[in-house]
Amino acid sequence: MSSPHAAPLPDIAGLERAALEALLESHGIEPYRVRQLFRWVFARGVTDFALMTDLSKSLRASLPALVRVSRPLVAGSERSSDGTTKLLVELDDGRRIESVYIPDSPGDTFCISTQVGCAMKCAFCLTGKMGLARNLTAGEIVGQVRALASAFGLTASRFNIVLMGMGEPLHNYEETMKALRILGDTEGFAVPPRRVTISTVGLVPALDRLAREAYMPNLAVSLHATTEAQRDMLVPANRKYRIEEIIDACRRFPVRRRDRITFEYVMLAGVNDSREDARRLVRLLDGLQVKVNLIPLNEAASIPFSRPSDERVNEFARILADRRLTVSVRKSRGRDIRAACGQLIVEGTQKSAAQRLAELLT
Ligand code: SAH
Repeated sequence: MSSPHAAPLPDIAGLERAALEALLESHGIEPYRVRQLFRWVFARGVTDFALMTDLSKSLRASLPALVRVSRPLVAGSERSSDGTTKLLVELDDGRRIESVYIPDSPGDTFCISTQVGCAMKCAFCLTGKMGLARNLTAGEIVGQVRALASAFGLTASRFNIVLMGMGEPLHNYEETMKALRILGDTEGFAVPPRRVTISTVGLVPALDRLAREAYMPNLAVSLHATTEAQRDMLVPANRKYRIEEIIDACRRFPVRRRDRITFEYVMLAGVNDSREDARRLVRLLDGLQVKVNLIPLNEAASIPFSRPSDERVNEFARILADRRLTVSVRKSRGRDIRAACGQLIVEGTQKSAAQRLAELLT
């Protein structure tokens, strides 16, 4: 038994395989054992060393003193009428985040958070209203995938991952990329980069860094406006990294021959949904290998905007399509359980901390 004051043991689920190999090798454990461990934890969802039957008995007995396997705690879940399910994941410090399972064909999608809250404060996003509480660790980011995969029996199958939950992934760059490398490990979940999408407001230095990564996910840029003044208001990060710089960074971004960068565009009635907006959008994206994803606003009482009519959305889409842009309108999934884009917000975190304290004191 470790003393209660000792630093927590390293968590296998938050370590890249090479780091775990180095750690265990210093205790005389060979690298192939680490491959076995990865398969148990990620590909099979087993966290109890005693059940890892292909490890030697003595190794099974010695591992608990060296490493641990965190177990993501699912504190609640809600299922939408369309099958979309939102998991409330409780972290070690009692804070809570949300992760969403979106069943779809050809592949199911996991929507994952990268931060508790978000610092970007986009004018139409509920998560932004929470502010940023803290970054998630790689283990916590991977932990959401583990929780979803085991809740929906998908440990051994293929799924897509979108970093479109709470938070701005490029504002938590190190841990996000580390998590993606762990998720991509061929001995673990083996998620290929083309099944992963990072969605960002467009933090330009981080975009340039991402452009040089070996594990290169798909890129989605949350544009939402066609003039600097309009975007300054809707996406405050624009005051630092302007549309023009973001588009330039996208021109520099290495896009594989048949791939495209997605531009997300939240549609707000009477704000950014005019024909002129559509034409400006066409001009902005000229010459880029892109597709545009229109997201009609998911409304909420505290958001001072409304969703345009379907006719308006379709007309906007038609203007883009007529100029040969690939365009899609995002289906809004899980709106009845507030699991749709921009609707992830966790209430009652304080209460939960207070409850835990009360439990400790009784
Ligand atoms: N921080 C990342 C991920 C955010 S969530 C980013 O900004 O890209 C994914 C998408 O949902 C973003 O494009 C975001 O702007 C959008 N979104 C936020 N609030 C929304 C709302 N209320 N309705 C529709 N989409 C929203």
